[in-house]
Amino acid sequence: YRHGEASEVVVGTPDGPVVFGEHHPLVVVAGPCSVENEEMIVETAQRVKAAGAKFLRGGAYKPRTSPYAFQGHGESALELLAKARQVSGLGIITEVMDAAELDKIAEVADVVQVGARNMQNFSLLKKVGAQPKPVLLKRGMAATIEDWLMAAEYILAAGNPNVILCERGIRTFDRQYTRNTLDLSVVPVLRKLTHLPIMIDPSHGTGWSEFVPSMAMAAIAAGSDSLMIEVHPNPPKALSDGPQSLTPDRFDNLMQELAVIGKAV
Ligand code: PEP
Ligand code: MN
Repeated sequence: YRHGEASEVVVGTPDGPVVFGEHHPLVVVAGPCSVENEEMIVETAQRVKAAGAKFLRGGAYKPRTSPYAFQGHGESALELLAKARQVSGLGIITEVMDAAELDKIAEVADVVQVGARNMQNFSLLKKVGAQPKPVLLKRGMAATIEDWLMAAEYILAAGNPNVILCERGIRTFDRQYTRNTLDLSVVPVLRKLTHLPIMIDPSHGTGWSEFVPSMAMAAIAAGSDSLMIEVHPNPPKALSDGPQSLTPDRFDNLMQELAVIGKAV
């Protein structure tokens, strides 16, 4: 069981430090699944910033089930994230899939994301553990809590104490009505087992934008420290994860709803 106080993960952003942790205000991370072009990423950044988000998320390198699906724009998308960061003042969170790309991703990212599919890529975990940027570790889709905490331990053991744990839904039976099963029981369980900050991602957790607001509010009620929400200016046209992406207007409403129910934004 957990020893000691809750950890604080302090992340430098252009607008100043943002703290993830049990005794700090809710931190909201929002943005598209993939960085598609300059206009959409800058527009999304400005809209989510105005609504109260502290970080912009967006994939440059995308782990897609099919090799024929959009794979992300790679390096050019990193440049667009740098631009959006500068224009908006938001911190940037983006995924590393391959250790060969880690240095150039860490140049732009304020937090480096390790995705569900790489949660047990131990050589990647050791490498993100040996660099200074904070790491967002998403739960593998069939990972036990023990698997997940041990994956986090790889990063800590390699010397990086700044790890945030993100629940993004696990595989259960249903694929028809929900993409994954969002396991909100991890919030109190992780609180008992670990000092690390907790994030909930109801977008990948449900797969459908209409279910995201309820589960975002449930995550806060359970005591989550932060949320990751996919937002796209035109979800039907998104190159990835459109069905689960909120419009900026819907995100705006959600942020107002969240402000009412606790852990003040
Ligand atoms: C993502 O955040 O867009 C993503 C691919 O998430 P996950 O690794 O949880 O599937
Ligand atoms: Mn996505």
